[in-house]
Formats: sequence, C-alpha cells, structure tokens
Amino acid sequence: MINKKDCCGCTACSHICPVKCIEMKEDKEGFLYPAVDNEKCIHCHKCERVCPIGNLINYNNETKTFIGYNKNEAIREKSSSGGIFSLAAEWIIEQNGVVFGAAFDEDFEVCQIAVETKEELSKLRGSKYVQSRLEDAYPKVQQYLENNRKVLFTGTGCQIAGLKKYLNKDYENLYTVDVLCHGVPSPKIWKMYLEEKKKQYNAPIQKIEFRNKESGWKNFSVNIEFADNRRYCIKFYEDKFMQMFLGNIDLRPSCHNCRFKGFPRISDMTIGDSWGIENYMPDMDDDRGTSVIVVNSLKGKQMLEAVVGSLNLKEASLDKALPKAEIRKQSVEIHPNRVKFFKCVEKGESIDALCACLSKSLIQKVLSLIRYIFMRLGAL
Ligand SMILES: Cc1cc2nc3c(=O)[nH]c(=O)nc-3n(C[C@H](O)[C@H](O)[C@H](O)COP(=O)(O)OP(=O)(O)OC[C@H]3O[C@@H](n4cnc5c(N)ncnc54)[C@H](O)[C@@H]3O)c2cc1C
Repeated sequence: MINKKDCCGCTACSHICPVKCIEMKEDKEGFLYPAVDNEKCIHCHKCERVCPIGNLINYNNETKTFIGYNKNEAIREKSSSGGIFSLAAEWIIEQNGVVFGAAFDEDFEVCQIAVETKEELSKLRGSKYVQSRLEDAYPKVQQYLENNRKVLFTGTGCQIAGLKKYLNKDYENLYTVDVLCHGVPSPKIWKMYLEEKKKQYNAPIQKIEFRNKESGWKNFSVNIEFADNRRYCIKFYEDKFMQMFLGNIDLRPSCHNCRFKGFPRISDMTIGDSWGIENYMPDMDDDRGTSVIVVNSLKGKQMLEAVVGSLNLKEASLDKALPKAEIRKQSVEIHPNRVKFFKCVEKGESIDALCACLSKSLIQKVLSLIRYIFMRLGAL
C-alpha cells in the first residue's frame, strides 16, 4: 500500500515491470495509482527503483531565465501564455521529430499523445487544467528514441521525471519541456463538471479552451462551445472548475508535496506565465500573453537559440520573474476542507455544492494566513 502523497501517477513502475503485474487504477478521488497483482509479482523491486520520488538524480546545475513571447500572433492567441511551447515543438517537427504533449480525447478527457506534423500541434496547444493520462507514452517515447527520431516530451515536472527514470539512459535525441505547474486537478471532478455542462446545455460539446484570450491574457475566460453553436464563455474567476483548481481543493495529494519544483529542474526548459510582468518589464506586456522561460540545460539553450528569431525575448532574473515561492519552489498548501470536499464528491453532489467547500471558516483563514507568512519568510 503506497502513501498517496508519494505517488505522482507517472506510470514508470507499471511499464518497467517485467511480468506486467502493475495496473494503474483510479481511486475514489479520480487519480490513477499503481495496483500490484501479488500473485504475479516476482519481487524484483524494479518498480521501487524506477519511482522518481526519492530516487531522482538531476544533473542540471545552472539556469538562465528569460521573458518572451512568440512573434506569430495567431499562434500566441491560441496559446495559454506566450506560445513558447509551439516554437520548440515546430523546431522538433522540422527535424522529422515527434512531439508528446497533453491533448483532449473524444470525450474531452486529457491524455498524453504523440504528434508528427505542425497541423496536429493545435491538439497540444493550450493548457488543460486536469491531470493528463500518460497511458503508454513512456514506451512509445523509448521506441522513437531507439529509432533515432528526435523526441520532444512536454508535460509536468513529475511526468518528465518519471520518463527519465523509466528510460534510465541519457538519449542525445530526447528534449524535455515542463510547464510551471502548481498542481493537477482530479480527472473525476473534470468529468463531473463536463456532465453538468452537457446537461445544462442539452447538447454535445465541440470545443473547450481553458484560456480563451478574447478579453485579454490576464482576464482570460473558460470557453466551451456546443454542437448547436451556443457557447459558455465566462471569466476564469467566475467559473466553478477554475475556482476549485485555483483554490487548490481538488489537486493530486502528491502536488502538496511536490519533489520536482525548484531550479534547476530535471527538464531542459521550463515554461510558464509571466504573471506580474506589467510591473517588472512593462514593455514586454501587451496583455496577449507573455511567458517566463527557464533554461535548465545545454539542450534547453540549444532549443531557445534555434527559435530566438521567432521570439521577442529579454533576459531576466529568476527571483524577479517568479517572485512567488509556491510557483518557483514550494508546494501549494492543502485546502483545509479537502477531505470534506472529496466526501461530497463520493456522495455525487453538484458542482455548486462542491464549490461551497472552498469557503473557509475564520479560524481556517487565520491559520492559512500564518502558514502563508511562514512560507514567504522561508522563501526569502
Ligand atoms: C496543470 C497545469 C498547471 C499550471 N500551473 C501554472 C502556474 O501555476 N503558473 C504558471 O505560470 N504556469 C502554470 N502552468 C503553465 C501555463 O498554463 C502554460 O501551459 C505554459 O505557460 C505554456 O504556455 P505556452 O503559451 O508556451 O504553450 P501552450 O500551447 O499554452 O501550452 C501547451 C503545453 O502545455 C502542456 N500541457 C497542457 N495541459 C497539460 C496537462 N494537463 N498536463 C501536462 N502538460 C500539459 C502541453 O503538453 C504543451 O506542452 C500550468 C500548466 C498546467 C497544465
């Protein structure tokens, strides 16, 4: 029985098992965890050794931080931040490479897929604020690498850590980019939310954008389009799913004990939103999306240099570009009502009722404030 805060659901253990006795199974909260068939297990302990939590070696030792955005306005518009992912991905595809990233499947659940053309990159573009299913991405990456194809693997820090442990070898042709993730919400809550939306509109969903920029990058909207041409387009702070995500009430337990934050990271490059850029570098802010880019390795530097002509770019300091410790290096705090929240989930309560769990009592608010102050002090 594993401690849930020590499992990021990366699937490395299930793929490394020589007798295939580990299956990823969904728990009551909707997250995937390895389940071992003890009758088949040969006790080789490969699954324990491959686990990135506690076993990870990071050889990167230097970082350089930049602020930038893609000069291609159409792609930037469709990207969550400054469209940096698309530039790195196009560069890989131009070299006959393969790009792995998070896409919606036919039911709008989120999974990791491989694409080989620039047209298909639109599937990966844009943040999907749900933990993505990795399925058999790791063995597929390995196959492409062994066939001498360049591979760009993009995802959360824990997904990249799991991949590196699974491969157990430095491949010259592997490039990795992680997003500045603060935590991944439960796929079960996402499914419940979508079911409610489909019932409300009584129509199938055709398109979803978590980060529609029609009213600006900072004031982005959640946009859901239905088959009968109606649309639900609402500012992120009014949307219930985003409220639960940003309130940190429906995140995977391991996100509250994240081992993959801090810099330099295990990935070659880290990308995120450059929130607060209007104060720090106002000339880099036109409210269409600006990214923070952290180069963690020589390959990260190579990727950035290859696309520099397509970017508006400035060098920055890491501390100024990412002033919030919970983004840069510390895990986000567990919401005090998380247990109550998931009890309501089990009872099948409505999204409105789940959202009500976000309200904190006075004592909880005071405790959160004290913890926040200590966290800020610890980060200084
Ligand atoms: C769950 C999550 C939490 C995040 N939290 C923060 C945060 O707190 N602060 C911050 O600055 N930035 C955060 N980001 C990153 C930010 O939202 C953008 O993804 C990032 O800035 C890249 O933007 P882009 O414009 O370059 O590319 P885009 O085209 O917008 O992003 C595409 C990239 O995001 C990846 N991606 C999308 N959804 C997922 C997913 N569910 N799991 C893994 N990878 C995914 C794709 O594989 C691709 O690499 C988060 C992203 C995710 C997915």
